[in-house]
Amino acid sequence: MTATRTFSLSRLMRPHIATLKPYSSARDEYSGSEGIFLDANENPWGSVTTQLLNRYPDPYQQALKSRIAELKHVPQEKIFLGNGSDEAIDLLYRAFCEPYLDNVIICPPTYGMYEVSAEINCVEVRRIPLSADFQLRPDAIIEAADWHTKMLFICSPNNPTANSMHLEDIRFLLERFEGLVVIDEAYIDFSQQPSCITLLEVYPNIVVLQTFSKAWGLAALRLGMAFASAEIIGVLNKIKPPYNVSGVAQRLALEGLNNQRQFQEMVSQTLEQRQWLSHALACLPEVLHVYPSDANFLLVKVKRPKEMYDFLISRKIIVRDRSRLALCEGCLRITVGTAEENQQLVAAMSQF
Ligand SMILES: *Cc1c(COP(=O)(O)O)cnc(C)c1O
Repeated sequence: MTATRTFSLSRLMRPHIATLKPYSSARDEYSGSEGIFLDANENPWGSVTTQLLNRYPDPYQQALKSRIAELKHVPQEKIFLGNGSDEAIDLLYRAFCEPYLDNVIICPPTYGMYEVSAEINCVEVRRIPLSADFQLRPDAIIEAADWHTKMLFICSPNNPTANSMHLEDIRFLLERFEGLVVIDEAYIDFSQQPSCITLLEVYPNIVVLQTFSKAWGLAALRLGMAFASAEIIGVLNKIKPPYNVSGVAQRLALEGLNNQRQFQEMVSQTLEQRQWLSHALACLPEVLHVYPSDANFLLVKVKRPKEMYDFLISRKIIVRDRSRLALCEGCLRITVGTAEENQQLVAAMSQF
């Protein structure tokens, strides 16, 4: 961080969160693993399922976090795990944004949850659209910010435009923006660009979000990661529901992390298929443009988006119609599928 600016997290926090006394769970008060546990009103006999699930899980997911720490080269105290990254987004609002007073900046077209979460929490949203080439407009963002602008959401690679934001712009904003800069890296495993996790050491106001829902193939597990200073992570831990990540999720995610080979294999298949699909689609007469992608989906401009969408539905192929979003006029968002799925999509679109 530049020496010209001092960053104070307590200035950003909602005052009542700073003084909040958090719930203390049974596992907060005694965290050993040996003994006769009669403190949490659990069922001592077992579970009605084949998996044993009668005991409450570790509220801070330490076994899982220590594995993530190794993998990401981030100390455990800088990692938060939530019920999807969506939970981390909501907790950030609840910790830092005072309803009817504070505001956040988003850069549309982008992921819808930043705005929905703002609305749920009665927080004003300031929209600074991306440029025509889907990049951030750093000067306009700084200009739009005031004392009450607590967070800036940057999605990179961005959903639905599929591109990564320029790192120089992200660094400029980390230096100049006075609130938290939340960088959503849900698609980072498919990207050419390195993760911003390395910037954790440099900027006290960075929050990086990643998820198990995409490249890890664990969307049903509901597990998201936030990486930030120990101070910011401490605030999220203080306000999270005590057992926000289930025991099943913790166990299965650990199992998944030890299966790097399949992860790598699935990512490289996706990259290969992304390239194939991008070329195949670009050759279709109905397709006007296939945007470059750093993610596991393609943004595709077609001549008649609504008609194409309905036609594909009639063939039982479901894509996302993004054609009514500003800057995405005429566009469908298409997830990269398996080789066979992609061939069927291209065959169907060529019959339109
Ligand atoms: C899919 C996606 C997520 C994932 O959210 P989870 O709650 O972790 O499933 C987060 N951000 C963006 C931009 C996404 O597209």
